[in-house]
Amino acid sequence: MKIGVLASQGAFIEHITALKKLDIDALPVRLPGELKGVDGLILPGGESTTISKLMKAYDLMQNVAALTRDGMPLFGTCAGMIMMAKKISGNGAVSLGLMDIAVKRNAFGRQVDSFEVDVDVPALGKAPFHAVFIRAPLIEQCEKGVEVLAKLKDNTIIAARQGKMLVTAFHPELTNDLRFHRYFVDIIKGKNN
Ligand code: GLN
Repeated sequence: MKIGVLASQGAFIEHITALKKLDIDALPVRLPGELKGVDGLILPGGESTTISKLMKAYDLMQNVAALTRDGMPLFGTCAGMIMMAKKISGNGAVSLGLMDIAVKRNAFGRQVDSFEVDVDVPALGKAPFHAVFIRAPLIEQCEKGVEVLAKLKDNTIIAARQGKMLVTAFHPELTNDLRFHRYFVDIIKGKNN
């Protein structure tokens, strides 16, 4: 199995490291040709405005959108989640418009308001997941067909799945907990549908 990690900008190296720990062949993707033969793609956190500009400049928007619509599994973390949402509020970024969620950018405030908290993610088992939020977005709304995977205590939705698309508002790649990456690998394998 080969998983691509969009390497235009942001925390892509950490995702590659996490996948390697799972013995998965992980490769950085900067050009459309590098998408050939990947079984899934991760869109990392970073700055969604920058990521969308670079994806446009390198002709990746349409390619990634088309492949995902054809069934390529896609995992977006933080800015990556923003890139996947059909609706974005809180000053514009251009997204791929793939997943039936509405997200709000920078929903928890500025850089200094970044925080970490243990959250329950029933799909990953009993142990809580240590979630790192950095100028994070939140999911304001999920349409039919979207499964909520995790919420904060105040019911803010912070992780969800729709078919082979997976999103987290936080950064699983910044912890040593590989369960979200393993969950994505299982989506690719068709194990947890
Ligand atoms: N604030 C960023 C954005 O709106 C996301 C931050 C992140 O990916 N850690 O794009």
